[in-house]
Amino acid sequence: MRIELENLEGGKGDFAHVYQPEELNPVDERVRLTAPAAVTGKVRLSGNEVFVSGHVDTRAQVECDRCLQPVEAPVSADFTLEYITGSEYESSEVAELTEAEMSVAVFDGAGLDVDEIVKEQILLAVPTRMLCREDCKGICPECGIDRNTGECSCVADDIDPRWAALKNLK
Ligand SMILES: [Zn+2]
Ligand SMILES: [Zn+2]
Repeated sequence: MRIELENLEGGKGDFAHVYQPEELNPVDERVRLTAPAAVTGKVRLSGNEVFVSGHVDTRAQVECDRCLQPVEAPVSADFTLEYITGSEYESSEVAELTEAEMSVAVFDGAGLDVDEIVKEQILLAVPTRMLCREDCKGICPECGIDRNTGECSCVADDIDPRWAALKNLK
């Protein structure tokens, strides 16, 4: 969904859309949606700035940090965004590269790409570390077995490599 600024009546408007997971998948190489993503929001033009605010709700699947099994979690995010329009947009040398990269995909000076906004907000809302359960035993670093579902006879050497040097001092 795209919102053209010139179509906004009185410089403002509302939007609402429900994306099916396949419309946005994969959100990135790590995150996939497992449920529709409902987004609602408002756009307001003021001078040479565009303000966007809204909310997105969905469910996402990532890999467990330890055992790599899929883990699903609800994702819910409120957002407020701000962009510069028109000649200001043309001439602005955006300070931070990351901010510039994100903004260019979302706003091209004439319209807003709501799909990109929703993807960005989902990625920001998904935790960077997820576990399938608190006590996930993870994968054996020796043989690769999932220690939640099987046992192996590898010798347990659970010493953190950062401490291994200290052990050798004894
Ligand atoms: Zn796990
Ligand atoms: Zn093993």
